[in-house]
Amino acid sequence: MSRKKENLFLFSVDLEDVRLRVHKGLSYRPRVEEMIEYYLDFLNKYQAKATFFTVGDIPKYYPSLINMLVEEGHEVACHSHKHLPITSQTSKEFRDDLLLNMESLYTAGAKELIGYRAPTYSLTKDTPWVFEVLTDLGFRYSSSVLPAQNLLYGWKDFGENPRKMNANLWEIPVSLRKGSFFKVPFSGGVYFRFLPFYFIKRSFDFHYQKNRAVTSYFHPYDIDVDQERFMHPEINNNWMYNQLMYFNRKKVFTRLHKIMKLYDSKIITYKSFVEGIDNE
Ligand SMILES: [Zn+2]
Repeated sequence: MSRKKENLFLFSVDLEDVRLRVHKGLSYRPRVEEMIEYYLDFLNKYQAKATFFTVGDIPKYYPSLINMLVEEGHEVACHSHKHLPITSQTSKEFRDDLLLNMESLYTAGAKELIGYRAPTYSLTKDTPWVFEVLTDLGFRYSSSVLPAQNLLYGWKDFGENPRKMNANLWEIPVSLRKGSFFKVPFSGGVYFRFLPFYFIKRSFDFHYQKNRAVTSYFHPYDIDVDQERFMHPEINNNWMYNQLMYFNRKKVFTRLHKIMKLYDSKIITYKSFVEGIDNE
Protein backbone atom coordinates (compact mmCIF):
# COMPACT_ATOMS: atom_id res chain seq x y z
CA MET A 1 0.00 0.00 0.00
CA SER A 2 1.46 3.35 -0.89
CA ARG A 3 1.71 6.16 1.59
CA LYS A 4 -1.07 8.72 1.52
CA LYS A 5 0.15 12.03 0.20
CA GLU A 6 1.44 14.20 2.99
CA ASN A 7 4.21 16.77 2.89
CA LEU A 8 6.49 15.08 5.38
CA PHE A 9 9.34 17.03 6.94
CA LEU A 10 11.79 14.86 8.88
CA PHE A 11 13.03 17.50 11.25
CA SER A 12 16.31 16.78 12.96
CA VAL A 13 18.91 18.56 15.03
CA ASP A 14 22.49 17.31 15.21
CA LEU A 15 22.80 17.86 18.93
CA GLU A 16 26.43 18.79 19.50
CA ASP A 17 28.43 21.54 21.16
CA VAL A 18 30.94 22.99 18.72
CA ARG A 19 32.90 24.54 21.59
CA LEU A 20 34.08 21.08 22.56
CA ARG A 21 35.86 20.68 19.22
CA VAL A 22 37.63 24.03 19.04
CA HIS A 23 40.82 25.26 20.68
CA LYS A 24 40.12 26.44 24.26
CA GLY A 25 36.46 26.02 23.43
CA LEU A 26 35.30 25.89 27.05
CA SER A 27 36.29 29.54 27.44
CA TYR A 28 33.22 30.37 25.33
CA ARG A 29 29.72 30.52 26.79
CA PRO A 30 27.62 27.32 26.76
CA ARG A 31 24.74 27.93 24.35
CA VAL A 32 23.28 24.54 23.56
CA GLU A 33 20.47 24.35 26.12
CA GLU A 34 19.07 27.74 25.20
CA MET A 35 19.15 26.87 21.47
CA ILE A 36 17.35 23.59 22.09
CA GLU A 37 14.64 25.52 23.93
CA TYR A 38 14.14 27.62 20.78
CA TYR A 39 13.87 24.50 18.62
CA LEU A 40 11.34 23.06 21.06
CA ASP A 41 9.29 26.27 20.95
CA PHE A 42 9.21 25.98 17.17
CA LEU A 43 8.20 22.30 17.29
CA ASN A 44 5.57 22.89 19.96
CA LYS A 45 3.90 25.50 17.80
CA TYR A 46 3.15 22.70 15.32
CA GLN A 47 2.63 20.05 18.01
CA ALA A 48 5.47 18.19 16.35
CA LYS A 49 8.12 15.74 17.53
CA ALA A 50 11.60 15.68 16.03
CA THR A 51 14.79 13.63 16.10
CA PHE A 52 17.90 14.75 17.96
CA PHE A 53 21.06 13.02 16.72
CA THR A 54 23.22 13.44 19.79
CA VAL A 55 26.97 13.33 20.34
CA GLY A 56 28.18 11.37 23.38
CA ASP A 57 29.70 14.31 25.26
CA ILE A 58 26.42 16.25 25.43
CA PRO A 59 25.14 14.62 28.69
CA LYS A 60 28.42 15.46 30.44
CA TYR A 61 27.94 19.18 29.86
CA TYR A 62 24.13 19.31 29.77
CA PRO A 63 23.04 16.54 32.15
CA SER A 64 19.29 17.19 32.05
CA LEU A 65 18.90 17.66 28.31
CA ILE A 66 18.33 14.06 27.20
CA ASN A 67 15.73 13.42 29.89
CA MET A 68 13.89 16.56 28.92
CA LEU A 69 13.78 15.58 25.23
CA VAL A 70 12.58 12.08 26.09
CA GLU A 71 9.92 13.40 28.47
CA GLU A 72 8.62 15.75 25.78
CA GLY A 73 8.27 12.82 23.39
CA HIS A 74 11.13 13.55 20.98
CA GLU A 75 13.41 10.93 19.54
CA VAL A 76 16.99 10.77 20.78
CA ALA A 77 19.37 9.07 18.33
CA CYS A 78 23.13 8.60 17.98
CA HIS A 79 25.61 10.93 16.31
CA SER A 80 28.88 9.21 17.45
CA HIS A 81 30.84 9.76 20.63
CA LYS A 82 33.78 11.80 19.39
CA HIS A 83 32.37 13.23 16.16
CA LEU A 84 35.08 11.83 13.90
CA PRO A 85 34.40 11.14 10.22
CA ILE A 86 33.71 7.46 9.56
CA THR A 87 36.26 7.47 6.76
CA SER A 88 39.03 7.96 9.33
CA GLN A 89 37.99 4.89 11.32
CA THR A 90 38.29 1.11 11.16
CA SER A 91 35.21 -0.98 11.70
CA LYS A 92 36.32 -1.74 15.26
CA GLU A 93 37.03 1.90 16.09
CA PHE A 94 33.64 2.83 14.71
CA ARG A 95 31.91 0.20 16.81
CA ASP A 96 33.77 1.12 20.02
CA ASP A 97 32.98 4.79 19.53
CA LEU A 98 29.31 4.08 18.90
CA LEU A 99 29.08 1.87 22.00
CA LEU A 100 30.38 4.79 24.09
CA ASN A 101 27.84 7.08 22.42
CA MET A 102 25.02 4.65 23.25
CA GLU A 103 26.16 4.14 26.84
CA SER A 104 26.37 7.86 27.44
CA LEU A 105 22.88 8.50 26.02
CA TYR A 106 21.24 5.54 27.78
CA THR A 107 22.79 6.61 31.09
CA ALA A 108 21.40 10.10 30.55
CA GLY A 109 17.85 8.79 30.01
CA ALA A 110 17.52 7.76 26.34
CA LYS A 111 15.00 4.95 25.96
CA GLU A 112 15.48 3.21 22.64
CA LEU A 113 18.34 4.12 20.33
CA ILE A 114 17.50 2.92 16.83
CA GLY A 115 18.78 5.79 14.68
CA TYR A 116 22.24 6.90 13.70
CA ARG A 117 23.73 9.83 11.78
CA ALA A 118 27.38 9.93 10.78
CA PRO A 119 29.35 13.06 11.62
CA THR A 120 29.49 15.33 8.53
CA TYR A 121 27.57 12.76 6.41
CA SER A 122 30.79 10.76 6.14
CA LEU A 123 29.21 7.41 5.24
CA THR A 124 30.43 6.61 1.72
CA LYS A 125 30.62 3.64 -0.63
CA ASP A 126 34.07 2.94 0.88
CA THR A 127 32.58 2.27 4.33
CA PRO A 128 29.76 -0.23 3.67
CA TRP A 129 30.69 -2.20 6.83
CA VAL A 130 28.96 0.55 8.82
CA PHE A 131 25.56 -0.99 8.02
CA GLU A 132 26.63 -4.36 9.45
CA VAL A 133 27.86 -2.80 12.69
CA LEU A 134 24.68 -0.71 13.02
CA THR A 135 22.45 -3.74 12.47
CA ASP A 136 24.46 -5.77 14.93
CA LEU A 137 23.96 -3.08 17.60
CA GLY A 138 20.19 -3.00 17.04
CA PHE A 139 19.85 0.10 14.89
CA ARG A 140 16.92 0.30 12.46
CA TYR A 141 18.00 3.24 10.35
CA SER A 142 20.85 5.51 9.48
CA SER A 143 20.67 8.97 7.93
CA SER A 144 24.29 9.38 7.00
CA VAL A 145 24.63 9.43 3.21
CA LEU A 146 24.95 12.49 1.02
CA PRO A 147 23.93 10.93 -2.31
CA ALA A 148 26.10 13.04 -4.64
CA GLN A 149 29.63 14.00 -5.38
CA ASN A 150 30.55 16.56 -2.74
CA LEU A 151 33.60 18.53 -1.76
CA LEU A 152 33.99 16.56 1.45
CA TYR A 153 32.27 13.18 1.26
CA GLY A 154 29.34 11.87 -0.74
CA TRP A 155 28.14 8.61 -2.30
CA LYS A 156 27.44 9.56 -5.89
CA ASP A 157 25.33 6.63 -7.08
CA PHE A 158 23.38 5.93 -3.90
CA GLY A 159 20.09 7.38 -5.16
CA GLU A 160 17.90 9.92 -3.44
CA ASN A 161 15.24 7.62 -1.95
CA PRO A 162 15.51 5.70 1.32
CA ARG A 163 17.02 2.31 0.69
CA LYS A 164 16.85 -0.87 2.71
CA MET A 165 20.46 -1.97 3.24
CA ASN A 166 19.56 -5.36 4.75
CA ALA A 167 16.52 -7.01 6.33
CA ASN A 168 16.49 -4.63 9.29
CA LEU A 169 18.18 -1.38 8.38
CA TRP A 170 17.18 1.63 6.27
CA GLU A 171 19.48 4.34 5.00
CA ILE A 172 17.63 7.65 4.63
CA PRO A 173 19.91 9.91 2.58
CA VAL A 174 19.88 13.67 3.03
CA SER A 175 17.58 15.56 0.63
CA LEU A 176 19.42 17.26 -2.21
CA ARG A 177 18.58 19.74 -4.94
CA LYS A 178 20.52 20.48 -8.08
CA GLY A 179 22.15 23.92 -8.07
CA SER A 180 24.14 25.55 -10.84
CA PHE A 181 27.30 23.60 -10.12
CA PHE A 182 26.49 20.64 -7.92
CA LYS A 183 23.72 19.17 -5.84
CA VAL A 184 23.30 20.79 -2.45
CA PRO A 185 21.73 19.61 0.82
CA PHE A 186 19.33 22.57 0.96
CA SER A 187 17.30 21.64 4.02
CA GLY A 188 19.64 22.30 6.91
CA GLY A 189 22.85 23.84 8.14
CA VAL A 190 24.66 26.51 6.13
CA TYR A 191 22.73 25.87 2.90
CA PHE A 192 19.32 26.51 4.44
CA ARG A 193 20.58 29.89 5.64
CA PHE A 194 22.74 30.88 2.70
CA LEU A 195 20.70 29.92 -0.38
CA PRO A 196 18.06 32.37 -1.59
CA PHE A 197 14.64 31.47 -0.23
CA TYR A 198 13.19 30.97 -3.72
CA PHE A 199 15.75 28.18 -4.23
CA ILE A 200 14.82 26.56 -0.91
CA LYS A 201 11.16 26.81 -1.84
CA ARG A 202 11.70 25.29 -5.29
CA SER A 203 13.59 22.46 -3.65
CA PHE A 204 10.72 21.70 -1.27
CA ASP A 205 8.33 21.93 -4.26
CA PHE A 206 10.44 19.44 -6.17
CA HIS A 207 10.49 16.85 -3.38
CA TYR A 208 6.87 17.23 -2.34
CA GLN A 209 5.70 16.94 -5.95
CA LYS A 210 7.48 13.60 -6.04
CA ASN A 211 5.82 12.65 -2.75
CA ARG A 212 9.23 12.45 -1.08
CA ALA A 213 9.81 13.33 2.55
CA VAL A 214 12.29 16.17 3.05
CA THR A 215 15.04 15.37 5.54
CA SER A 216 16.98 17.98 7.48
CA TYR A 217 20.02 18.63 9.64
CA PHE A 218 19.98 21.69 11.86
CA HIS A 219 22.50 22.38 14.63
CA PRO A 220 22.29 24.40 17.85
CA TYR A 221 24.64 27.01 16.33
CA ASP A 222 22.51 27.44 13.17
CA ILE A 223 20.08 29.64 15.12
CA ASP A 224 22.49 31.19 17.62
CA VAL A 225 22.63 34.92 16.97
CA ASP A 226 24.62 35.66 20.13
CA GLN A 227 27.39 33.07 19.89
CA GLU A 228 30.92 34.43 20.22
CA ARG A 229 33.07 34.47 17.10
CA PHE A 230 35.51 31.58 16.76
CA MET A 231 36.75 29.31 14.02
CA HIS A 232 34.37 26.39 13.66
CA PRO A 233 35.75 22.84 13.57
CA GLU A 234 35.84 20.63 10.45
CA ILE A 235 36.13 23.48 7.94
CA ASN A 236 39.92 23.38 7.52
CA ASN A 237 40.41 26.80 9.09
CA ASN A 238 38.76 28.34 6.06
CA TRP A 239 37.98 31.98 6.90
CA MET A 240 35.38 32.35 4.15
CA TYR A 241 33.54 29.23 5.17
CA ASN A 242 33.64 30.36 8.79
CA GLN A 243 31.86 33.56 7.78
CA LEU A 244 29.12 31.37 6.30
CA MET A 245 28.87 29.44 9.55
CA TYR A 246 27.53 32.66 11.10
CA PHE A 247 25.55 33.88 8.11
CA ASN A 248 21.79 34.53 8.32
CA ARG A 249 21.21 32.67 11.57
CA LYS A 250 18.46 35.09 12.47
CA LYS A 251 16.46 33.98 9.41
CA VAL A 252 16.22 30.27 10.18
CA PHE A 253 12.93 30.28 12.07
CA THR A 254 11.35 32.84 9.73
CA ARG A 255 12.18 30.51 6.85
CA LEU A 256 11.00 27.43 8.71
CA HIS A 257 7.66 29.02 9.56
CA LYS A 258 7.26 30.03 5.91
CA ILE A 259 7.89 26.46 4.80
CA MET A 260 5.40 25.12 7.32
CA LYS A 261 2.77 27.56 6.12
CA LEU A 262 3.39 27.14 2.39
CA TYR A 263 3.15 23.35 2.38
CA ASP A 264 1.22 22.56 5.51
CA SER A 265 4.20 20.28 6.18
CA LYS A 266 3.92 17.54 8.73
CA ILE A 267 6.99 17.21 10.95
CA ILE A 268 7.67 13.69 12.17
CA THR A 269 10.61 11.83 13.71
CA TYR A 270 12.83 9.59 11.62
CA LYS A 271 11.69 6.73 13.81
CA SER A 272 8.03 7.16 12.89
CA PHE A 273 8.97 7.62 9.25
CA VAL A 274 10.82 4.29 9.29
CA GLU A 275 7.88 2.57 11.00
CA GLY A 276 5.69 3.98 8.24
CA ILE A 277 7.80 2.76 5.30
CA ASP A 278 8.33 -0.60 6.98
CA ASN A 279 4.55 -1.09 6.91
CA GLU A 280 4.09 -0.11 3.26
ZN1 LIG B 1 27.63 16.69 13.65
